[in-house]
Amino acid sequence: MKYTVLGSGSCVPDTKKNSSGGLLEAGGILILVDCGTGVLHAIPGSGYDYKEIDVVCLTHLHLDHVNDFGALLFALSHDPECKREKELLIIAPKEFSQFYENLKRLYGDTLENSFDVVVREMGNEDFDYGDIHIQLLQTFHT
Ligand SMILES: [Zn+2]
Repeated sequence: MKYTVLGSGSCVPDTKKNSSGGLLEAGGILILVDCGTGVLHAIPGSGYDYKEIDVVCLTHLHLDHVNDFGALLFALSHDPECKREKELLIIAPKEFSQFYENLKRLYGDTLENSFDVVVREMGNEDFDYGDIHIQLLQTFHT
């Protein structure tokens, strides 16, 4: 298992840190944990390929954790080098579907993809995905 920090900042602009995000590589699965501002553009410099992300796990819907989510879908659908066919699993809090529907309504076919986007809204639950076990737990937000 390997975790690569792509951003450890907050909503406050910072020349040294992107907003929250990181890549977790485990069991042959690549998970993007949060997708704050600057995270998408930090992926190429991390040695990973954003087109290979299997799962996006959003801890909560504050903008400093989700701002690049629409940009990720936009890139996956408009990057001429992206021929993605595998589904993209989104693990997110229970309010995510409304956020996602509003995003799609706002951007229309800009966010349409040739692959399936599967949304799994979760609370404090756990499940198996491939060879890994994912468990979500509530934490305090500072
Ligand atoms: Zn927050």
